[in-house]
Amino acid sequence: MCPQMSAELSDAQPLGGVLPEGEYVCTLQNAAKSASGIDKTKEGDGDMVVVRFIVDEGEYANRRVFPPWYVLVGGTKVDGSKHDLNRAMELVNASRVTWTCEGCGFVGGNGTELTFNKSDRKYYCSGCKQQTRITYNTDDFFDGTRRVRVRLNQQKGLQDDMVNGVTRVRSIDS
Ligand SMILES: [Zn+2]
Repeated sequence: MCPQMSAELSDAQPLGGVLPEGEYVCTLQNAAKSASGIDKTKEGDGDMVVVRFIVDEGEYANRRVFPPWYVLVGGTKVDGSKHDLNRAMELVNASRVTWTCEGCGFVGGNGTELTFNKSDRKYYCSGCKQQTRITYNTDDFFDGTRRVRVRLNQQKGLQDDMVNGVTRVRSIDS
């Protein structure tokens, strides 16, 4: 025989409910559909990391931010131009993963971030101060040790419902 239970209906919070606007410390989960951990864009012209933020502290701890955050990490558009990788660099800096400059060999991460130039809004190697090519491993985003500070707004979703939008991601101690 099952014990009888009673429940306050207000205690049942939807998993994907919209969170109030504000800043949240979150952990990162890989929400990619493909086994490789990297999904293709709908157009098939780019590679992207799909980040699911899980709130790590406070009143909303363990809630998922919906929808996931799509981060282009490479690829070339049909017209031959490159994708904008600013969001990927924002995530590299916020999560403090290790990166290596292919130009000068400088190794950054974990306290030495890419330099963000506020006037042209571009990222530079903090070793050689040049706009070079860097390498990093997207698996590091999801190694379970990363915590970032995520700023959320509320915006209209695809079904005209309200969802969260990610407006900024930065390191927890910045
Ligand atoms: Zn460099």
